[in-house]
Amino acid sequence: MKKMAIVYCLIALILQYSTIIIAAQPKNVIYVTLDGLRWQDLYETKQYFPTLWKKHAETAHFYGKPGSNKYFEVASVPISQPSYTSQMTGKVLSCFDNKCSRISQETVLEFIKLKLKLKRENVAVFSSWKQINLVAEHTAGTIVSNNSQAAMTDPITGKVDSTMLRLNQQQTEPTPYEGYRYDRYTYQQAIHYLKKYQPKLLWIGLFDADSEAHLNNKPGYDKALRYFDYAIDNLIETLKEMGIYQDTTIIITTDHGRGDGKNWITHGPSYPESKKTWAISFNTEIVPDGQNEKGTYYSTKSIRKTIEKIMLS
Ligand SMILES: [Zn+2]
Repeated sequence: MKKMAIVYCLIALILQYSTIIIAAQPKNVIYVTLDGLRWQDLYETKQYFPTLWKKHAETAHFYGKPGSNKYFEVASVPISQPSYTSQMTGKVLSCFDNKCSRISQETVLEFIKLKLKLKRENVAVFSSWKQINLVAEHTAGTIVSNNSQAAMTDPITGKVDSTMLRLNQQQTEPTPYEGYRYDRYTYQQAIHYLKKYQPKLLWIGLFDADSEAHLNNKPGYDKALRYFDYAIDNLIETLKEMGIYQDTTIIITTDHGRGDGKNWITHGPSYPESKKTWAISFNTEIVPDGQNEKGTYYSTKSIRKTIEKIMLS
């Protein structure tokens, strides 16, 4: 009988321990940025993001939604490089346009890699815009960073597999901007990487909405938003297929808003309304940047705090 009691005790202990494991906070982070997507186009009309609203809204946390008390703003000037810099450092550094040199402080991507003693291939960024290369790493080569039309290779062997080869060729498709790759290639490279290497921390930076808006191309902007909707759904489904959805926090946000009315094509300090943005998260909530009389305040600086909290606590 004594033996049986010990066995029961052991089983109870194992069950309790496995419950703790199941209930543990997700430890992987996928960070997605949809450059220049206005909060109005996410929240005010349901014409965009049909799959998000229909299939995933119930499980999502929303920030910057009209009528809620969760406000989201760009901490820096509402311009891409300064904004991404504030996301990566949790601070507003001296960078005020898109011509800044390499980021002057260690980024959250580098910090997490160092703290968790991760291998280089466990932290990766894929983006459509060449400047992200300068924002993602303070020391070039610390993490895997694939931006603009740079060819992708295996981070360990330097070889190119068949999917990389196909995408490396397709992504050379000419674009209206120098140092730019269409989002469909950036996203496919990132998803291939996710499936093959299962990084702990992955940033996917998509940019077509901002590019099309600056060209005053409304049909192009709409098309970019439809692709974003597809990408969010595809990302969630891919993680579920891989069996790691519950272990992963997804944070989706933007770098800045846009001007009102006919100024929708632009953004920056002359359009204070473009400071107002949004965010969505799955599986964990974003860390606030402060509290005021209106409610809870979040900003681009919240991104670093959130990634650190998830991965280091
Ligand atoms: Zn822009």
